[in-house]
Amino acid sequence: MKTDLPDLMIDIETLGLRPDAVIFELAAVAFDPTTGDHGQSFKAEINIEDAYLHRLTSDEETRRFWDERGGPRQGEAQPLRVVLDHLAGFIGDMNPKAIWSWGSDFDFPILGNAYLRAGLDCPWRHYQQRDARTVYKLVFPEEKRRGIDHNALNDCLRQIKDIAFAINYSRSI
Ligand SMILES: [Mg+2]
Repeated sequence: MKTDLPDLMIDIETLGLRPDAVIFELAAVAFDPTTGDHGQSFKAEINIEDAYLHRLTSDEETRRFWDERGGPRQGEAQPLRVVLDHLAGFIGDMNPKAIWSWGSDFDFPILGNAYLRAGLDCPWRHYQQRDARTVYKLVFPEEKRRGIDHNALNDCLRQIKDIAFAINYSRSI
């Protein structure tokens, strides 16, 4: 399945901020950063106990953040290795030119570490990584984004909308 949408947006929800944090939810959405068009998507929940078994960690503050919001979603949770393997398959199918996340130092290193701990190859190359926050902040340095959902799929869609808006705004001035 090849898509005419060149890039992927990814987002993860975690129980910590360190590069070895537990990921309990992730999503990826095919999109075009110049138009904001989006298509095929992947989303999954990861079993937290299984993530701990792979020596991933959490911090108290982030656990509290989620506890105050009803706890991390686990209704459809699958083992870490299964989810990462499926994500790798999705990325392979999409064959994206670039993979974006909001910031360069959160989603990429945490996901990269999870692949390492799961004993799987990371499904992208370092030169495919793009940082949407940097692009957005170049265009809107003072803008404070509000209403972030902290739902990986919704956050991907929001990030696609914001980055496409920033790119088009910068081209129109
Ligand atoms: Mg998020």
